[in-house]
Amino acid sequence: MPQPPILKVSEIFASVQGEGLRQGEPTIFVRLIGCNLRCNFCDTKYAWEGGDDISVQQVIEQVKQQHKEFPANWVCITGGEPLLQDIRELAQKLKEKDLKIQIETNGTRFQKLPVDWYSVSPKPDNYFVHPELIRITREVKLVVTEELDFDVVRKIRQKFPLATPILLQPESNKDKFRQKGIKLLKNAAEDGLKNLRLSLQLHKIYGLQ
Ligand code: SF4
Repeated sequence: MPQPPILKVSEIFASVQGEGLRQGEPTIFVRLIGCNLRCNFCDTKYAWEGGDDISVQQVIEQVKQQHKEFPANWVCITGGEPLLQDIRELAQKLKEKDLKIQIETNGTRFQKLPVDWYSVSPKPDNYFVHPELIRITREVKLVVTEELDFDVVRKIRQKFPLATPILLQPESNKDKFRQKGIKLLKNAAEDGLKNLRLSLQLHKIYGLQ
């Protein structure tokens, strides 16, 4: 039996960060189970339910194992929505190992954690973001989908500090959403909105996990 605290875990693997401004950097991913949203474009639906009960200590052991195969200074805790589970002890123990921590969150939840890089990706319908995250997130990823329109882009730009970049990330790199991303970027420039940029999911181009 795993010893508490226990986390529900989908997978732990070493790869390269494919999204956001940390794109291209070697990273060990800890994907936790569960999400409070049900986006129809979700590409990690397998992490909504199921998974394994693993103690924090076992997660650390697996991270160490992955680190032997692919030494990476960063651990990205992702999901699903990773902040649905209490990850304070996990974050603390990763810090003790001198690893940098990134959290990929939909922005609806908050925990006080020793995190180096929050990556917030607000989601439809209401694109809610917890007030504590607005100031500290290093980047905002907006998935360019059928639903995303310019009003949302404008509201999100106005919500976050100007120094925080907003990345327009086409759903699964699809051509029609890349075209839409270009259009949104142009609309933003015409409207005087600053610090927006186009993005892609690099891991899908490289065929990585
Ligand atoms: S918030 Fe993220 S993990 Fe949750 S359903 Fe939406 S895309 Fe999937």
